[in-house]
Amino acid sequence: MQHFESTDPIQQVIAGVKKFQDSVYPEKESLFKALARKQDPKILFITCSDSRIDPSLITQTDPGSLFVLHNAGNIIPPHGTPYGGTGASIEYALTLLDVEHVILCGHSFCGAMAALLDDSKINTVPPIIKQWITYAETTRAIIDVEANHLSEEERLHLCVERNIQVQIRHLKTFPSVAAKLALGKLTLHGWFYHIETGEIDVYDPDAEKFIPFSNAYAASLAALSNP
Ligand SMILES: [Zn+2]
Repeated sequence: MQHFESTDPIQQVIAGVKKFQDSVYPEKESLFKALARKQDPKILFITCSDSRIDPSLITQTDPGSLFVLHNAGNIIPPHGTPYGGTGASIEYALTLLDVEHVILCGHSFCGAMAALLDDSKINTVPPIIKQWITYAETTRAIIDVEANHLSEEERLHLCVERNIQVQIRHLKTFPSVAAKLALGKLTLHGWFYHIETGEIDVYDPDAEKFIPFSNAYAASLAALSNP
C-alpha cells in the first residue's frame, strides 16, 4: 500500500486519484481504451461490502475481469423477494453479460454475521439492516442447532461458512442461474477469505465441507507450474 504523508482520509483518496491518473492509467491506457465502450467479464464476484475485501487485489485481475456485487454480509435475497438491487445485478450478469462463473465470497470476522448471531445487537440496528439480515435467517437457524458448544469466535467462523452455503442455495432460485446450471454453462464457487492470512477455503459440494484453495483448484495450479 502506498504511503501518503497526510492522515486525512479524503486527502489520501485525492492523492490516490492523482497518482492513478498520472502514472497507473498511462501504463494500462490501451486496456482502458478497449474497455471504454464494452465490458465482457466472465465472472460474477459477490462479496461483503466490508472495506477489507478487495476482489481485484485478491484475484490480481485487471478492470474488466470481474463483475462485482458488494452488499452487507454477501447476502442474496431469494428470487422473487423485494429489494431487487441484488437480484437485478445477478440477472444482468447472467443474462446480458453471460458470465460463466459465480464466486460467492464470505470472509473472516464479518460484522454482518456477528450481528446475525447477536440478539442484543440485531434489535438495536436500524430497521433496514434488521430487514436485510433476515435473508440470512436460515444461516442463524442452522447455527442455533449446530454451534451451541462452540466459542464465540468458532461460532462466527461456522456462521460465515454456513452463510456461504445458504446464499449459494438462494442463488440457485434465480431462473437464469438454474437454467445455466442445467445447461452446464455455469459454475458456482463458494469462497471463505481469511483477512488475517490471505488464505481462501473453498466449499466442496461433494464433500459438503470447506477445503484449502490448493486442493480445490489443484489441477489449475498444476497447469500453472507446467504450462
Ligand atoms: Zn462482512
